[in-house]
Amino acid sequence: MKLTVLGCYGPYPKANGACSGYLLEDQDIKILIDCGNGVISRLFTHCNDLNKLDAIFISHLHPDHMSDLMVLRYAIAIGQMMGKITKPISIFLPSSPLEDYNRIPYQQAFTRSIINEELKVNIKGLDVSFFKTDHPVECYGMVFENNNKKLVYSGDTKFFPELADKIKGCDLFLCEGGILERDITDSTPHLSAKQVGEIAVEANLRRVILTHIFPATNTNLIFKEATEVYTNILEIAEEGKTYYI
Ligand SMILES: [Zn+2]
Repeated sequence: MKLTVLGCYGPYPKANGACSGYLLEDQDIKILIDCGNGVISRLFTHCNDLNKLDAIFISHLHPDHMSDLMVLRYAIAIGQMMGKITKPISIFLPSSPLEDYNRIPYQQAFTRSIINEELKVNIKGLDVSFFKTDHPVECYGMVFENNNKKLVYSGDTKFFPELADKIKGCDLFLCEGGILERDITDSTPHLSAKQVGEIAVEANLRRVILTHIFPATNTNLIFKEATEVYTNILEIAEEGKTYYI
């Protein structure tokens, strides 16, 4: 599998950046994971034929993870009208908040499937499963498995004790952790870099990529904070970079 970071900022991008969006590819499989603002223009540099996009998975309906769907749907509907796109694109997403869920459809752009913890999806042999995280809206972490390789994406979450269990045995953990421990309060809905380091140690992980970077955070400090705890491979997500799993 290979994972290209299309956007890695949250809850808003820095100059010339984009919010959450990742292209997962394996042979002829192409999956978009999250679709925050700024992601679609980057997607088109890697996949300019939307017929080749097999599915879109949305962790939750906060705008920094899904707002470009509102634009992508125009590209799909117009492509269908012009005969260039032959079918709706499959999108997997939580069904709440209902108001946001109901805003997403447009003509025949998408076929929607609702994510829950029981759902198992298979895309051309690649398995996808889900676990609920702790975030102010319904949000899911995602497990992608193919050819004995396993990628886990955290979605958005604050710390919860079961998280280490959910990620055990993965080859790469793409985890939100774009703020520092000093920024965390009881109500912060995100993980600090230090917390990610601790979870990675508990789960005995081999490799972690920190993402959902708060634009004002010094990424050197995030790296330092996480690697003081976790000493295996840790990288900070870089937009445009492809990571091989
Ligand atoms: Zn969120």
